[in-house]
This record gives sequence, C-alpha cells and structure tokens, in this order.
Amino acid sequence: MFSSLRSRLWLSYAWLIVTALGVVMFVLLLYLLRNPLLYRQTLSKLNAVETLIAARQRELAALPSQSLKTALKRTDSTFDVRLILFDADERVLFDTRADETPIAMPSEHFFRSTPTLRDDAGKVWLYTLSDLSDGTRLLVATPRPNVHLLAILRDELMPPFWGAGAIALLLSLLLAFGMARWIADPLQRMLTAAREMPAEQSIPVPVRGPHEVQELTQAFNEMVARVQDTQQAQRDFVANVSHELKTPLTSIQGFAQAILDGTTDTPESQRQAAEVIYAEAGRMHRMVLDLLDLARLDAGIAEMERSPVDLTALLRNVARKFTPQARGAGVGLHVEVADLPVVIGDGDRLAQVFTNLVDNALKHTPSGGQVILRAVRQDGEVKILVIDTGAGIPAEALPHIFERFYQVDKSRSSGGEHSSGLGLAIVREIVSAHGGRITVRSQAGQGSTFVVHLPVARPDATTILSRQDR
Ligand code: ADP
Repeated sequence: MFSSLRSRLWLSYAWLIVTALGVVMFVLLLYLLRNPLLYRQTLSKLNAVETLIAARQRELAALPSQSLKTALKRTDSTFDVRLILFDADERVLFDTRADETPIAMPSEHFFRSTPTLRDDAGKVWLYTLSDLSDGTRLLVATPRPNVHLLAILRDELMPPFWGAGAIALLLSLLLAFGMARWIADPLQRMLTAAREMPAEQSIPVPVRGPHEVQELTQAFNEMVARVQDTQQAQRDFVANVSHELKTPLTSIQGFAQAILDGTTDTPESQRQAAEVIYAEAGRMHRMVLDLLDLARLDAGIAEMERSPVDLTALLRNVARKFTPQARGAGVGLHVEVADLPVVIGDGDRLAQVFTNLVDNALKHTPSGGQVILRAVRQDGEVKILVIDTGAGIPAEALPHIFERFYQVDKSRSSGGEHSSGLGLAIVREIVSAHGGRITVRSQAGQGSTFVVHLPVARPDATTILSRQDR
C-alpha cells in the first residue's frame, strides 16, 4: 500500500512531524509533572518557617518543654509543615506529627537542587534542616506536592495546546502531502512517458519539481529526443537502402526477363542486356560495400592504421591518379602544397577521402574549369582545401550534403555509376575518426570548396584516432 514514492515520502514526512510533536508534548508533560515552580514555592514556605523559628530561637529556648511543643504544633497547623527536633545524636526529641510514619534524620545531599527525603513508609517529603543554638537540629518538612497527569491534561492550560498541536499537525501533513506530490509527480510523468516510449511523437515531460528532478526531466527529454531522432534516422536509412537497391534490381530483373522471353533476339541486344545487368550488379555491389564500410566506421570497428602520413606525397599521388581523367574532361588539376607537418593516421583511408573529394569536384566541373588541391598549416592543424570552379551546391542543399544517400540532383549525379549519395558520408566518418572535421563552402554556379581539418601530430606522436562528437 505504501510502496509508491509519493506515499512513502508523505509517510516519512508525517512520521517526522508526529515524532517532533510527540517529543515536544512529552517534554512539556514531563516539565508540568515535575513542576519545579510548585517545588520552589513549597521550599520557600519551608525556608520561611525555618527563618521564623531561627529568629525566635531564644524566646523558644526559654519556654518550658510543654509550651515549646505547643508552639511548634501551632506553627505546624498554621503553615501545614511537619517540625521535628533532633538532638545531637540524631534522636527525635519532638515530632509535631508523631502519630504519622516516623522520619529519620536525613543525610546531607549537597548536590541536590531540591532536598527530598523518604519516611519509613517511602513517602517523599521536601525539607529544610537547620542547627539551633542549643545543639539541637530542626527539620521542617512537607509532603512533596504531586501533580496528577489527568489533572494536567484537564487543566485549562492544556486545551489550547491540544488545539494548536492538532492544527500544526494538520497543516504540516497537508504541506507534507504537497511536498511529496511536488517531488513524485514529475517522476511519475517520466515513468509514464518511458512506458510509452516507442510512441511516434511523445510530448516532452514538463520540467517541474526540485532542481535535481528538473535536471533529470531535462536529461530524460533530451534522451527521448535523441532516441526519436535515431529511430527516424534508422527508418529513413532502411527506406533509402530499399529505394536505392530497387532501381538496379528492377533494371536487372527487366533485362534478365527480356533475355528469358527471347525479346533480345540478336547477339548484339543480348550483349547490351548482359552489360546492363553487369553494370547494375556492379553498382549494387559497390553500394553494399559502401554501406558495410559506413556501418564499420559507425560502430568504430573499421580497422585504421596509426602511422605518420606524408600528406604532401599523398595529395600529389591522388592528383596524379586523376590527371588523365581531368585532361579528358578539359579541367585543369593543380596541387598547391607547402611544407606540411606530419599527421598520424591511416594513409589509405586519407587517400580515399581526397580521391572522393577530387572525383566529386571533377564530376561537377565543366570543361575549362579548374580543380585545386591546396594544403596549409594553420592553428595547430592542417587544412586541405579541395577547390573547384564547377556547378556549386545550392544553399538549401548545403546542410544535407554529408547525409547518407543525399544527392543534390539525382538526375544530374546519377550520370556517374558511383553515385549513391554515400561518398561524402563516408568521407566525414573517416575524417572524424582521425580527430578532424570537414566543412564546405559553396555557391550555385560559383564552384565549391571542401575543407578537411586534420590535427597535427604532437611531438610524442601518440595522437589517437578517435571519433569526434558530431
Ligand atoms: P555521390 O556519390 O552521389 O556523388 P556524395 O555523397 O559524394 O554522393 O555527394 C553528395 C551530393 O553532393 C551529390 O549529389 C553531389 O551532387 C553533391 N556534390 C558533391 N561534391 C560536389 C561538388 N564539388 N560540386 C557540386 N556538387 C557536389
């Protein structure tokens, strides 16, 4: 029944409040029961009687024994105190209440604030003891005043106490209930949201409650948003993969069917159909390889060398590889590399990055244009720029350029067999696995500049290939 956080919080607050009130009540009752005020009043009366007798000592000593006893008895009845005279040997000479239980001479208790003694029957008396001039000792005693619990509880002082206590209890219980709800309700809402988690559109949990609960709610909302993004990305990814594979598969199926149906009756048309099938199968194969590569880079399990890379040589090699293609397309390809520092990384993977970028640049630069590979050292990093004077990328496409399967203009880019929209996504993964980043500047019709930033190897050359948070 009390297993929920809210009821437990409420119960513990209630328990605390009741305990605190109980302790206050107990101490108050104890105080009233012991009633030091009453004790003090009684003791003052005893002291007054003692002082009175001390003052009349001479007069009393002169009285005959019988008259002395009468005088003491009168004092007893006037002040309602018991008077006992002891001789030097602590024997009772006279007791105004000899008919009551005898009282022996008390031993001195210097450390007691309230002097008490017990008679032979165990009854407690408050007393004072004084030495008289004739060597006798006078004990003035009165029964210790007793206050009964019931009397205290019935006392007119108590009902306001009870009332105030009840109101305080009620108010604090209400407050405790509010506090418990304040803390537990946001948690409850988070729980409900977590249970509904795979929901398409879960609304963020309102940020309320104490600071820590608010932070937890914020973290929870962020986590939900990330999970939803991931789910969406996965759905998009599967949809894109299916879509991309559908096109070559349809083509393969169509041409295979044509061969089977005998529609391609001449050796020439059969050869053409086989070529298409071969090309499409090759396209699918490359796409699957790219996807596998991306998946490995994503999971951080792609094997990466960690060795010093000579970027100057690497960039010159990439340019050399593309020289025939650039010449064929009528595009000038230049390398502008100053003295570059060593970077640590995987040479093959970095070559893959620049091959991809130069390939894209050449594909999108018409005859007469220029493609420049420029590398400079700046602020502790190496910046490699792949500049082209080609078609450029429209502003609305720029933010999506590194997304998987994103193609600016499918009809335009599908001209090349390699086009699948995965190239730049792989490039970004490889660069970030080297602790670097890639940016792009472009304007439609004015060419594009892709900039790869790579960290320079520290003197101890222990730069670790790591995936940077994107
Ligand atoms: P693809 O393999 O289809 O070229 P990429 O991921 O390499 O895919 O490129 C994504 C998109 O970016 C492509 O559709 C292409 O049109 C565009 N793009 C890439 N590089 C350039 C460039 N240098 N100039 C103009 N457009 C480019």
